[in-house]
Amino acid sequence: MEPEKNNLRYVPKSVIKRLALYCRILHRIEMDGLTRISSKILAQFLGITPAQVRKDLAYFGQFGVPGFGYNPHDLRIHLKKILGTDRIINLAIIGVGNLGKALLSYVGFKTQGFKFIAAFDLDQRKVGRKINELKVSSINELEKILKDSDVDIVVLTVPANAAQEVVDRLVKCNITAILNFAPIRIDVPSHVRIHSVDLAMELERLSFYLR
Ligand code: ATP
Repeated sequence: MEPEKNNLRYVPKSVIKRLALYCRILHRIEMDGLTRISSKILAQFLGITPAQVRKDLAYFGQFGVPGFGYNPHDLRIHLKKILGTDRIINLAIIGVGNLGKALLSYVGFKTQGFKFIAAFDLDQRKVGRKINELKVSSINELEKILKDSDVDIVVLTVPANAAQEVVDRLVKCNITAILNFAPIRIDVPSHVRIHSVDLAMELERLSFYLR
């Protein structure tokens, strides 16, 4: 389906997924000191055709010069703007168990422009502790803290049986983007985006190829 002009909602999900990949590749190319790249080389990095690269980018405007290719820096900045990652994205995490702690401690998010600004847990023994300089707050304070902070995305690392209830509270707090690690289907209203990562299921899918 052809997207309506200026309406990014019509861009296929597969294209949006590739945008982040383009940004990574362009960054590496920039770091290597290259000042131009062709759609053919970009396509090779992604394992797609040059025509697909040109089609992907055409959703967002006119890039590149025929016969020259793209300027990696300019294209990356433009794509980051489209992705909304041209600024720091503020994260909150709910559930500071083993997975939550690991995500909070991962330094790679910072270099990609993501910053944890709040962490919550139900367990009073964890409340008040600091992980990577961030103090864990009580889940009882969720509404109060979210109201006064600029959280863009909530990362959910609570057990499956707590997930829906927490998400319902997040929706009431006007959170519209959630990355869910709880292995359960969660219902959200249509204006809320929830991306679920079921790590065990991913491993199961990979196990299939071990045979
Ligand atoms: P730990 O043994 O340290 O609790 P875990 O990873 O085994 O780690 P889980 O049972 O997966 O723990 O829970 C993840 C985290 O979510 C825990 O820190 C738990 O206290 C927290 N949690 C559970 N229910 C809620 C809730 N309703 N709101 C906020 N946090 C919660």
